[in-house]
Amino acid sequence: MKRTDRRLCLALVLVLLPLLVAAGERPPGLGDVRDVRTWSYPGYTRVVVELSRDVRLPPDGIVRLAANRAAGRPERIYLDLPEIWVGIRYDRGLPVGDGLLKGVRLGQNTLRTTRLVVDLERYDRHRVFTLEGPSRIVVDVYGSRKGGVREDPSGRLPAGLRRVQKIIVDPGHGGADPGATGVAGLREKDVNLEISRLVARRLEARGFEVVLTRDGDQTRSLEERTAIAESAGGDVFVSIHANASARALARGIETYTLDRNHERHSLDVAARENGIPAAKLDPLQRALASLQVDEVGQHSEKLAGLVHSNVIRGARSRDRSLPDLGVKKGPFYVLFMSSMSSLLVETGFVTNRHDAALLRSKAYQAELAERIAEGVDRYRQQVELGLAANGDGPRGVR
Ligand SMILES: [Zn+2]
Repeated sequence: MKRTDRRLCLALVLVLLPLLVAAGERPPGLGDVRDVRTWSYPGYTRVVVELSRDVRLPPDGIVRLAANRAAGRPERIYLDLPEIWVGIRYDRGLPVGDGLLKGVRLGQNTLRTTRLVVDLERYDRHRVFTLEGPSRIVVDVYGSRKGGVREDPSGRLPAGLRRVQKIIVDPGHGGADPGATGVAGLREKDVNLEISRLVARRLEARGFEVVLTRDGDQTRSLEERTAIAESAGGDVFVSIHANASARALARGIETYTLDRNHERHSLDVAARENGIPAAKLDPLQRALASLQVDEVGQHSEKLAGLVHSNVIRGARSRDRSLPDLGVKKGPFYVLFMSSMSSLLVETGFVTNRHDAALLRSKAYQAELAERIAEGVDRYRQQVELGLAANGDGPRGVR
């Protein structure tokens, strides 16, 4: 096709497509755009497009348009979502205006393809990834905002090479998501919040800065939790959960770090904490494997080991028979995007009579909280010893 022909074709499509869309000529079998959300944080803005079905993005499906060559930056990022119908719902776009993004638009690019356009005000770099259960396209745009220059948290020294100062404490579930429900209606979300608040206090008493991802019975999506953690510039991420099992006798404490090697492991716990069926874990693991998590992995393992052994010691001072289920790995969404050492503690089984009684007890909650804080403190000491061993402190290591 000659260039002019192609242009003519494009012009025809542009003219005809809105007419077809307006006429409701929707081809059968397409998925829908369910929701579009954005979050603005100091170092970046996150766009999440929720879809009614999974999409597989072609490897070259992400294109930047450098419209403003003088400014040396792209004007927008766009990508096409195959087999998705948006119709005219988001034609006018979703204004953002946060000094980094102008806004987000979605349009029916062909009858079987929806185009997602992110209009930029500033730009440094971006990343795009897909998640399932529910299906989401996530676009993170990094850059310093117009009108305010803040440190990009992803540009910091890697975990293990910077001082451990700010701890993100993440009480699992909350709001519309109760988590597991156990003996006599004990709700995981309540246990998680109570212990997390105590952990926060104990950490503050040890001189740490603490950010809670929720401090009440609020609903928080997993991507919101990680975004809070990353934008706050946390050094350590501690997610607090309680376990559940169909076997009423199952009890004990286990601690998780992110699996980096796509191993086979405790899929039930990971499925529950991710809020997705076990069958959906494979694509999630592949998404995890494609992201860089190696550098924080060994630090997370060290952190998890220290926290876990402390917690077990404390728990057994209250109940000698408490089983130690060990430190394990799993594909936990809430752990994988953090640019910081992270772990998830399953503090006990709400479905077990003994564990549930312990988890309800204020004294036991305080014991666990103190031991988690102590473990984080030990990790801080180890990191600082490591820094000292490298000579002239964090700046000199780079
Ligand atoms: Zn949980």
